[in-house]
Amino acid sequence: MSARILDGNALAAQVRGEVAVRAQALRARGVVPALAVVLVGDDPASAVYVRAKTKDAREAHIDAIDHRLPASTSEAELLALIARLNADPAVHGILVQLPVPAHINADRVIEAIRPDKDADGLHPENLGRLAQGRPRFAACTPSGCMRLLAHGGVEIAGARAIVIGRSVLVGKPVALLLANANATVTLCHSKTRDLAGEIARADIVVAAIGRPEFVQGEWIKPGAAVIDVGINRLADRRLVGDVAFAAAAERAAVITPVPGGVGPMTRACLLDNTVRAAELFAS
Ligand code: NAP
Repeated sequence: MSARILDGNALAAQVRGEVAVRAQALRARGVVPALAVVLVGDDPASAVYVRAKTKDAREAHIDAIDHRLPASTSEAELLALIARLNADPAVHGILVQLPVPAHINADRVIEAIRPDKDADGLHPENLGRLAQGRPRFAACTPSGCMRLLAHGGVEIAGARAIVIGRSVLVGKPVALLLANANATVTLCHSKTRDLAGEIARADIVVAAIGRPEFVQGEWIKPGAAVIDVGINRLADRRLVGDVAFAAAAERAAVITPVPGGVGPMTRACLLDNTVRAAELFAS
């Protein structure tokens, strides 16, 4: 293997440490940074994510306020809670764990969050600001990808970057962040012709597809930087990314592992957005 592994766990620990220092500085000024975490229903995976996010926040001196609502909660009840959190000056960040139950419209819920409390960076205003090149909060996974590239010493300006996947959660905001950082960006998806050819030209590859080991190692340009966002559980319970890691690591200069790459950075960037929301509130 020739690639340098970008250790998301180590970088996330560093980011959490920086956030904790900023949170304590806010506390010293009488502002207790607070994140409201809303979970509707009892999806076990969502419950695990929410527990982890709450624990991270508390360890970083951010107050995490849990709101657990039953699966039977109506959209109107959820929107009423968000309205209360929007109006509460003690709450700086609001996170609604997705997915919400099918009878609730997730887009309407995200749009109801005050954009300056949108710690997840998913509100259309925040995505729009990103598109305009004047971001407030970027979505957490895309921000994590950018931090990993910076940590890896990857030159972004002028580089040819490919993003595979165009979701609002990952692919599109990553493409915008890379373009804002002066990369030449190609955004690919399931209708892309000759994906292998597109990847072969790229200095930076971000894979956010959701298909286990879909990106073949031989497609990677020698010396490229590879950021693997995918999290796929195999039948044998192993967790793998969207990139065939071992083969890609033979050719890439730097690569993120799964697990231990983008995942921990997503969680760390949520804390960063929350403390930034509190800093903006205090300024
Ligand atoms: P998504 O909404 O399902 O989007 C998947 C994207 O991949 C779509 O744009 C789709 O194209 C594209 N795609 C599917 N098959 C393809 C193919 N054969 N060739 C090229 N493109 C193809 O997924 P997502 O929410 O962005 O998540 C992507 C992956 O990242 C998942 O594994 C997810 O678990 C993981 N994830 C990880 C984190 C983290 O913290 N590490 C956070 C979020 C998501 P179309 O648009 O044409 O359908």
